[in-house]
Amino acid sequence: MPPRVVVVGAGPVGCVAAAELASGGVDVTLLEASLELPRELRASTFHPATLDLLERFGVVDKMVQRGLIAPRFAYRDRRQGVVAEFDLTALADVTDHPFRLQCEQFKLCEIMLNKFRSMANVAVRFGAEVVGIVDHGGSASAQLASGEMLAADAVVAADGAASAVRKSLGLAFDGMTYEDRYLVLSTPFEMADHLADLAYVNYISDPEEWLVLLRTVDLWRALFPVGDDETDDEALSDESAQRRLQGIVARDEPFEVAHRTIYRVHQRVADRFAVGRVVLMGDAAHINNPLGGMGMNGGVHDAVLLGASLAAVLRGDLGADRLAHHAQLRRNLAIDYVRRQTHDNAQSLAAPDSADRQRALDLMAARAADPDKARSYMLQASMINAKDAMRAELEEVGVFKTG
Ligand SMILES: Cc1cc2nc3c(=O)[nH]c(=O)nc-3n(C[C@H](O)[C@H](O)[C@H](O)COP(=O)(O)OP(=O)(O)OC[C@H]3O[C@@H](n4cnc5c(N)ncnc54)[C@H](O)[C@@H]3O)c2cc1C
Repeated sequence: MPPRVVVVGAGPVGCVAAAELASGGVDVTLLEASLELPRELRASTFHPATLDLLERFGVVDKMVQRGLIAPRFAYRDRRQGVVAEFDLTALADVTDHPFRLQCEQFKLCEIMLNKFRSMANVAVRFGAEVVGIVDHGGSASAQLASGEMLAADAVVAADGAASAVRKSLGLAFDGMTYEDRYLVLSTPFEMADHLADLAYVNYISDPEEWLVLLRTVDLWRALFPVGDDETDDEALSDESAQRRLQGIVARDEPFEVAHRTIYRVHQRVADRFAVGRVVLMGDAAHINNPLGGMGMNGGVHDAVLLGASLAAVLRGDLGADRLAHHAQLRRNLAIDYVRRQTHDNAQSLAAPDSADRQRALDLMAARAADPDKARSYMLQASMINAKDAMRAELEEVGVFKTG
């Protein structure tokens, strides 16, 4: 009998973990609380290193068909225009995907779920909310809201930031919550016709209100900070949406607003990513500032390494101590790499002092102007350094031939 794993949560991380486990010879039951795949607009950037890791599942071409290739990303100032631009094609010698792919996260899930339909060793159940986990040492069980108990050789928790599995294990989720909330507004209005040299990914500094302006296939998405002088309802109002979008491009007509959402931003990491036969991944294990787009990407990196590692342990090819080591490595990377990079991004855009902000922009301009510095920065921002930091471990579990 092949080993059996229950994966909790059919978000991007749960879907990738299920694919990795299944390709490692494991029978997977993927449990999703919602009645159908959540399709709200959340992360929409896949970094080069993540695309390299996803290539093994044969899904990247399909994602590219449904996404937008973004070779350039830019730092701008609202008044000065482009301050620094980085061209990822310069990394073509170290990645097969020298670009960011602008593609909403639910599209990866749709492509994966479609693939699972033809796989005998992945069963997907919607409307299956997990309320608790029992770790028996050499196996684990998931308890569903319906009262059903599902026994397995191991459980993967990919059930998002409010993870019921993490809570049921009593794991701490320490860190901090930012003072500002983030408001995301999406519009079909073609911003690029009105702002010179607009890349598909732009970090825009401004003394009054910084923003991030991203293109997806159909929409421009603008992310703004919301201070404590504004309630959620005020920030989400038509008046606020129009004022903010008119601040990007002033026009006589109102903007069509396709989506609007506001959320709180945290930096938090679970105190362990593996407890006995339960492995935490993605937002269940770590959440961070979305600037730089590393949350979902980091979760996919967890799912590939820890999914392959868990499958190898269950097949008897690897000792449990190696899974513990890999989980610790992913935790260290969540703290040292993702948290630092995203926090720095937030600081450079949002520094309240204009001299500090100008210094941050000058630093970006100097980096972009020097090919060596630009390369070193892009290796960090594209998560290639993060992938390389687990090169030996990926090779150990047979996942990835690094270049
Ligand atoms: C509003 C919002 C906007 C965001 N925007 C961005 C962005 O612009 N850029 C960016 O990089 N990141 C963004 N993020 C973060 C990004 O979406 C996450 O990092 C990413 O979704 C993590 O993937 P995941 O699979 O770990 O968790 P999730 O995507 O949260 O998936 C978890 C899945 O588990 C299911 N589930 C939850 N509890 C249970 C349970 N008890 N039993 C069974 N199933 C369960 C959920 O329904 C869900 O399908 C945003 C997050 C939010 C909340």
